[in-house]
Amino acid sequence: MSKPGRLIVITGPSGVGKGTLVRLLLKRHPQLYLSISTTTRQPRPGEVEGQHYYFVSRDTFQEMVTANELLEWAEYAGNYYGTPRKPVEQQIKRGESVLLEIELEGARQIQQTFPTALRIFIVPPNVAELEQRIRRRGQDSEEAIARRLERAQAEIEAADEFDLQIVNDNLEDALVSLEAAIFTQH
Ligand code: ADP
Ligand code: 5GP
Repeated sequence: MSKPGRLIVITGPSGVGKGTLVRLLLKRHPQLYLSISTTTRQPRPGEVEGQHYYFVSRDTFQEMVTANELLEWAEYAGNYYGTPRKPVEQQIKRGESVLLEIELEGARQIQQTFPTALRIFIVPPNVAELEQRIRRRGQDSEEAIARRLERAQAEIEAADEFDLQIVNDNLEDALVSLEAAIFTQH
């Protein structure tokens, strides 16, 4: 049997650039497997079922929680998000590394259930820049932006719970730091 793969958790406030970093990371290292989450959030324009998320109703999400089908889950800005357990466990068993791009509460749950996971927190250069990035992305309503910024403050305060903090100021620098963390043997 092959050596189990590694679980890598990437967390940080909305708009910090997690999705951008993960996309670039996967492009450079196609052997990494990104877990696709389930959410009750409405798809944004251009989001594709099964590629960005599995979009489900609240009832279906609740059924998945009850059936213990989620490795972790959390409520975020009025919607539920969770990691389907089976694909992650299968990849890890096969010796593949798995990336989770999730918020703080879920990352805390992973600390309990998967203590060997590498947990990385992406930090914005400052909160004003974070707000700019969320606005520039242009995909959230004013209400959603306000909720995300409110949550961001508490999330940033939790950054030191993580194995590693990476500041996403210059994108290429942040990517290189992320690669170093993931591909350095522990
Ligand atoms: P998250 O997945 O953390 O919510 P995104 O990856 O969607 O964040 O990034 C939010 C916005 O910030 C996007 O428009 C993205 O292009 C931009 N962005 C990401 N990283 C940087 C960076 N280092 N400098 C400037 N803008 C960035
Ligand atoms: P968005 O609505 O911007 O796609 O995601 C909102 C937040 O939910 C982001 O911080 C994202 O990382 C987080 N998220 C996405 N999928 C999951 C998941 O499966 N579990 C948890 N706990 N958070 C998730």
